[in-house]
Amino acid sequence: MQYNAPLPRSTALIRLLLSCFALTSVVMAQTSSKPNARTVHDSAIVIDTHADTPQRFLDENFDIATDAGAGHIDLNKIRDGNLGAEFFSIWVEPKFKGQFAHRALALIDSVYQQAQRHPDRISMAFSADDIVRVHAQKKFAALMGIEGGHAIENDIHVLRDFYRLGVRYMTLTWSNTNEWADSSGDINNQSVQHHNGLTDFGRDVVREMNRLGMMVDISHVADKTFWDTIETTKAPVIASHSSARALTNAPRNMTDEMLAAMKKNGGVVMVNFYSAFLDEDYRKAAAAQSKDENAAEKAAVEAWQREHPGKEVPYYVGENLQREWGNKIPRPPLKALIDHIDHIAKVAGIDHVGLGSDFDGVSGQTPAGINSAADLPKITAALLERGYTAEQVHKVLGGNLLRVFRDVEHAARELRAGAPEWSPAAISAATAPAKARSAAAGKKQ
Ligand SMILES: [Zn+2]
Repeated sequence: MQYNAPLPRSTALIRLLLSCFALTSVVMAQTSSKPNARTVHDSAIVIDTHADTPQRFLDENFDIATDAGAGHIDLNKIRDGNLGAEFFSIWVEPKFKGQFAHRALALIDSVYQQAQRHPDRISMAFSADDIVRVHAQKKFAALMGIEGGHAIENDIHVLRDFYRLGVRYMTLTWSNTNEWADSSGDINNQSVQHHNGLTDFGRDVVREMNRLGMMVDISHVADKTFWDTIETTKAPVIASHSSARALTNAPRNMTDEMLAAMKKNGGVVMVNFYSAFLDEDYRKAAAAQSKDENAAEKAAVEAWQREHPGKEVPYYVGENLQREWGNKIPRPPLKALIDHIDHIAKVAGIDHVGLGSDFDGVSGQTPAGINSAADLPKITAALLERGYTAEQVHKVLGGNLLRVFRDVEHAARELRAGAPEWSPAAISAATAPAKARSAAAGKKQ
């Protein structure tokens, strides 16, 4: 087990002293001043803010305790990579027009179902404290973020209901502009009605998210939407899965001016692992073949529909095709990913960068060596190799996200003047853990 169990203080002290001796001897044996990468990695609460696994749960009936195969996430890979918490993406594909909220609800249920099936290994989590508590219980914390503001169907009541169901961030747009926020994905498409950033209702959504304590996620949004959000928000924001535009010129990567604004805002940029966002050559090669790839994908979808008349086309029909085409382009080295972390750490600061893998959402198109969550320790090793300290690496692995999550929760309490936002999760957090804590304290004595 890579997790550290909570120990009585005296035992913890002895354990700490022993581990210091052990670490010293390892360091001496290696005659190097660099800390052991695996030790550094395993002593962190590793938090990833974006994985698209719920569509596998829902559309493929994938069980997280089984082998994910070519997928990035399963419980063994989570254990091997010491992944402590994942924000599962409730990604509402625009093809579900007319039933966006319904699709989101089904995906939310699919995450709960996994926790329900494996209570010994997974726990749902709804707060920064929950992540820490679940980690101390040697379990994996499952959280949720909605990807695509169209999921709320232009209704603030629905936004609040999603919060009550446990959703703790929302990406204001996906690749599609919705009725209140412009997306980077279609900003140059003249046939789409744009709003020059956020509409007045869009600003209300941001303010309500602040009041609720739901993190505002600016990944995917158009540049003007980003600046309108920064101007409107009363709490730090996150980019749940975005990389640096100075290194790779993808329109949904963040400019250095945006990175500086994130520092000022106190937020965090979680680096996306998708090769076309990390490596300029890969991005250009992917763009060059996109027309042929789209045609092939359309043909594959139509072929599936002919074989399954009247049925909804499952996401993996397109996914398999994208995987096949992605494999035609050489994968960039792991260095590409580390370069983006490094760049954001330099421009925004080490307190404003983290990991937002986009696992199970990029058709396997991640840098060489990163084949699943099990490979996360390689990132720690590469950062240490670049001269980052263990403390700095811990910030990137999850510390920064925890801080922002807490700041967002704090801002929400202030905005509500201490009044609770009533939801089943909030009620259980206010009652059950207190009982659990007193019970645990009783046992120690
Ligand atoms: Zn995305």
